[in-house]
This record gives sequence, C-alpha cells and structure tokens, in this order.
Amino acid sequence: MAVLTDDGIVLIDALTSAADAENVLLPGLRDLGADPEKIRYIVVTHGHDDHFGGARYLADRYGARVLMSATDWDLVAGTQPADAPARDLEIADGQRLTLGGTAIQLHHTPGHTPGTVSPIIPVRRGSARHTAMLWGGTNPPTTPTAPRTYLKSIHSFLAQMRRTNADVELSTAPTTMASSVPSSSAAGPTVRPLRARTHADAAVYDGDGLHAAWTPRQPEPGVSVQSLY
Ligand SMILES: [Zn+2]
Repeated sequence: MAVLTDDGIVLIDALTSAADAENVLLPGLRDLGADPEKIRYIVVTHGHDDHFGGARYLADRYGARVLMSATDWDLVAGTQPADAPARDLEIADGQRLTLGGTAIQLHHTPGHTPGTVSPIIPVRRGSARHTAMLWGGTNPPTTPTAPRTYLKSIHSFLAQMRRTNADVELSTAPTTMASSVPSSSAAGPTVRPLRARTHADAAVYDGDGLHAAWTPRQPEPGVSVQSLY
C-alpha cells in the first residue's frame, strides 16, 4: 500500500521479496503516476517476511527509512531471514509519522505478532477527506495466551478508530476476510461477541475455539491510498 503525500511516498509493507518489490510494487507505483524515487518511508506492520521482504531492496535502492516496532525488529532478528532489512527506526505506540503535511498515526496492536502496528491514515477522494484504518495483522495467534492480547488490541484500536472517525477500512490481507484457528480456548479468553460500529464490523467470539473476523470495506475508487496488492 502506498500513501502519496506532497513530499514523497510512505509505503505500508513491502511484499515478500526484492523480486516482488521490483516486479510488482514498483510497476504498481508507476501505474499510479507515483515516482518510486520518492519513497521516503516503509512502515512494516509486523515482522513476517510477507510484509518486510521487499523493504531492504527499497531501502538500498531509494534510501527509504524502514520503520517497525522494536518488538518485531527483535522478532526478525531472532529468525534472521536472509531478506530482512537492516534494523532502522522503531515505532513508538501512538507515534505520528508526518510527511508532506500527511500525518499517519501508528498504534501498537500486538496479537498477530508481539509487535504488530496498525496505522490510521488521512485520505481524500477528490476534495472529500476521510480517515482510513489498517489492521496490521489479520490472523489471530494460536498460542494459549496471545488471543487475550489480540482482543485487547482490537478494543484499543476500535477506540482509536472512534476517536478519529475512521470511515475507510483497509486490511493487510484483503483476501482474508475471515479466519479461524483451532481451539486454544481452554486457556483462551472468555468474551462476549464484540460488535463494532457497523462499518468496522469486527467480531471476536469464544466458543469451541477462537474465531475472529474482520469484514473491511474497500475504499471507493479514487481514494488517494492505493492498494498495490
Ligand atoms: Zn503475518
């Protein structure tokens, strides 16, 4: 995903590899009329290789700075994947990343990974201004205790969405509208269904297992945040 500002581009995630960055992401930017030379920042929502895989290539080629939570920089360092970006900027909870008058809010939403980050992004369609949210890690964790953390993050992020009147929903896994994990409920949370505002439509249930579903609406054509994948 690319956020096009007056002073350059903020990428949210960077696909799976240098080859993907070169063969998919860069042509996608050019199709939008965006110059890849203007990539300034790459916000990595979490430390899985299908999100940071192209970041090192883009950092090396364009001098882009790479941001990730300290926790997930540690996660990446622990696994030492070959295509990992060099450790760079750390995302603090609630941090604003400002470029060209566009301020992106970055909120810690641990669960999918210990350091998942979810952005809130000002967007516009024509002259109409909107606020987009992006849930940074879709699938809930499978370990016994982490679902509690995931649920807590949903609550905290919903509060941020309400505070900012977020009205555009995006997902890091747009084809994964719903997911479920095998039961870990013996040690898992006991929660009542959570219904967010209708356009947020987030639900977490605890029954035979944990089931979490997001039904994000895609932005209307013309919204200035463009999904490249
Ligand atoms: Zn992931």
